[in-house]
Amino acid sequence: MMGHIKANTRLYAVIGDPIGHSMSPEIHNQIFYQNQQNALYISLKIAIEDLEKSIPLLRDNFIGWNITKPHKQRIIPYLDALDERAKWYQAVNTVKNVNGRMIGYNTDGYGFINSIEKEGINLRNQKVLLIGAGGAARVAAYEILMKDGCLTIANRSIKKAEDLKKELMRNTGKEEIAVCSIEEVHQNYDCIINATPIGMYPEIEAMPIAEKIVKHAKIVYDMIYNPYKTKLLQKAEHYGCKCINGFAMLFYQAVKAQEIWTGDLIDPNLLMPIYEELENRLRREVK
Ligand code: NAP
Repeated sequence: MMGHIKANTRLYAVIGDPIGHSMSPEIHNQIFYQNQQNALYISLKIAIEDLEKSIPLLRDNFIGWNITKPHKQRIIPYLDALDERAKWYQAVNTVKNVNGRMIGYNTDGYGFINSIEKEGINLRNQKVLLIGAGGAARVAAYEILMKDGCLTIANRSIKKAEDLKKELMRNTGKEEIAVCSIEEVHQNYDCIINATPIGMYPEIEAMPIAEKIVKHAKIVYDMIYNPYKTKLLQKAEHYGCKCINGFAMLFYQAVKAQEIWTGDLIDPNLLMPIYEELENRLRREVK
């Protein structure tokens, strides 16, 4: 696979800290390889205090890069422009470097909504419970509202959920957004989305919401993919709900990033075997 690496190979990266467990290099290198691109994608561990001095190296050597924690907001002052979604979310996960001009994008929302729509699910007029009010919840909230879902945000810190609601109303013009603390969730919802780390390895017995609420949902989505099937998804499966874990979101945000970098759409027939291979491996390797 590495025989094609030459001096003119186009370089891409993901930057973050920690970065050791990122699946992004595997996803991107597989797609580049299958798409016969002369490109290489690597992970770069960059600590918060080293971000500023890393910018010239990135700008002078990399065609594009992804950004993960803790730099998604911190990268913004170094960029020359932001696309609309990155402005909404005030977070960038993808930079395209056009002859030294660095443009920030955010493809997480695309990954999120595509992972839902590819299952044939339409959120219009569906009662959606979003658990969490952090970065991932913000992205999901915008996309749910754009699809005319009826949104309730439940968060541990009610103040953070209220602030997110105000921001969403200001930027989307949608008024009907409900907010509550996680303990106050009593109603039933069509769709439940976990955008918190509750249930993530090693705390695999934890559930973000009471089982009695899960029981009545049609769709349960957990952004976590380690474990592959969280306690929440195990319960949801038991009750016959449609279940989605975080892998599809991760995969499709990567696809969108590549499409932005190369300017070409990627053939879905080329993507499907890569998706299935990586998903099967994830299923085997994480419990
Ligand atoms: P974040 O910005 O730090 O937000 C974390 C959210 O979880 C906050 O709402 C926080 O509530 C809540 N939370 C954390 N620990 C909690 C606890 N013990 N009890 C109750 N609430 C708790 O993190 P993020 O970037 O949004 O990520 C959230 C999750 O989404 C993570 O599991 C991450 O791995 C996952 N994610 C997946 C993808 C993907 O592609 N699949 C992409 C992004 C994120 P407070 O506001 O009260 O602190």
